[in-house]
Amino acid sequence: MTENYTPTSEQAAAQANETVMRSQSPVSPEQTTSTVEDIITAYPKKVAKKRAKHIVVRDGNEPTQEIQANARTTPGIITQRGCAFAGCKGVVVAPFGDCIHIVHGPVGCSYYSWLTRRNQFKPREEGQNFIHYCFTTDMNEHDIVFGGVGKLKTAIQEAYDTFHPKAITVHATCPVGLIGDDIQGAAKEMSDKLGISVMSFNCEGYKGVSQSAGHHIANNGIFKNWIGADQETEEIPGYTVNHEVRRTSC
Ligand code: SF4
Repeated sequence: MTENYTPTSEQAAAQANETVMRSQSPVSPEQTTSTVEDIITAYPKKVAKKRAKHIVVRDGNEPTQEIQANARTTPGIITQRGCAFAGCKGVVVAPFGDCIHIVHGPVGCSYYSWLTRRNQFKPREEGQNFIHYCFTTDMNEHDIVFGGVGKLKTAIQEAYDTFHPKAITVHATCPVGLIGDDIQGAAKEMSDKLGISVMSFNCEGYKGVSQSAGHHIANNGIFKNWIGADQETEEIPGYTVNHEVRRTSC
């Protein structure tokens, strides 16, 4: 039996406020539909049908807007979604085939992310190509109990000594976040020691509802640390521009 719901005065005020805001919303449902239809014309028919559910027109007056890709998976339902680690390492960073990407975690996570998106890398006639390798610290019970930072630093050193890459990336998996390994500190220490860019990503699998969180983590890291890092910006008279020069990366 359903009990009658009587809102408190605060709840009633909030509901009234929301009704007014929605009535003033600058984005009508018709506009949303036509905008989404415009966008999906770029896709093949089958893909467009799926993508349409993943696009919303942002409405500042609608606080609960959510795209389907951000919905949580229902426990017990089998899903094909990847984890945030897979999105960061497997999808966005792995196609940088001339860098070494080390998975700090169990070997299962490493293998899981090895195959994805490798087709996006086009080897140049000259230069490095590590796309066919899978680098991992292969964490085990001992590392989970006593920490895996030492093993990570050893792995970075070994990768450098063996292949002499221009840059190395480090990717955290779930257990690394749970035990709190300081992968940024290890990356910075090894970057200073080896004289190359060593960038770490805290992309633990549980960081989001799907791999899309990993895409954000990867892209933010790349834009912050690599893009334009090997170019000095010319001074433009009359403007104040802060820029920083870091080591070159691949
Ligand atoms: S969810 Fe966690 S444990 Fe599973 S593959 Fe992703 S990073 Fe590894």
